[in-house]
Amino acid sequence: MSDKEIQSDKKMISENDLLSETKAETKAEMDTISKQILELQEKSELTKSEKRRLSRLQKKVESLEAQQEEEKEQYHRDIYYMKEAIRQAKKAAVLNEVPIGCVIVKDDVIISRGYNRRNTDHSTLSHAEISAIRKASQKLNDWRLEDCTLYVTLEPCQMCAGAIVQARIKRVVVGSMNPKAGCAGSVLNILQMKEFNHQVELVTGIRKEECSDLLKAFFRKLR
Ligand SMILES: [Zn+2]
Repeated sequence: MSDKEIQSDKKMISENDLLSETKAETKAEMDTISKQILELQEKSELTKSEKRRLSRLQKKVESLEAQQEEEKEQYHRDIYYMKEAIRQAKKAAVLNEVPIGCVIVKDDVIISRGYNRRNTDHSTLSHAEISAIRKASQKLNDWRLEDCTLYVTLEPCQMCAGAIVQARIKRVVVGSMNPKAGCAGSVLNILQMKEFNHQVELVTGIRKEECSDLLKAFFRKLR
């Protein structure tokens, strides 16, 4: 993705979204350490051990800053690729299918795309994620998708969550949640069960309004 694309995309992100650019835990840790540093700096004279502690804390702040920078970049990548998944969902809507879309990304490149085609294909297997997983495996010549991130506009069902675990996908980014059928935390969390041999890193709520608005508009049209 080009810098220009990232820039134009950043403008679209609401202020509310920007607040979650970095993880809350990282920010909390940063606040605690900054406070400790300030307390030390306010003292007129520091003992040797306090000086050592201060330098340790300052190093920690530097590494946390770098971590926050990475989190920010990741957040913007997630926002960007979710837009691509939404583009896929719109293809489903054109076919009068429930608009759900998916892309799989490896090394910052989209390697496959998919959208819901259940009615068109007369197949329960034609969910967006399954199509994208199949294509990604064809492309990589491997059933393992270990270093891949899967972006999907709606929380995966039990079948797709199962396939994601089977394919050893590293990270899943979800747009809107599906309280009645989702298996990334709503009904079940198949993606992160300790009992299985693979757990997936999970991020939810990326472009959630846009993803759910698509679905709402689709079902409104049906009525
Ligand atoms: Zn599914």
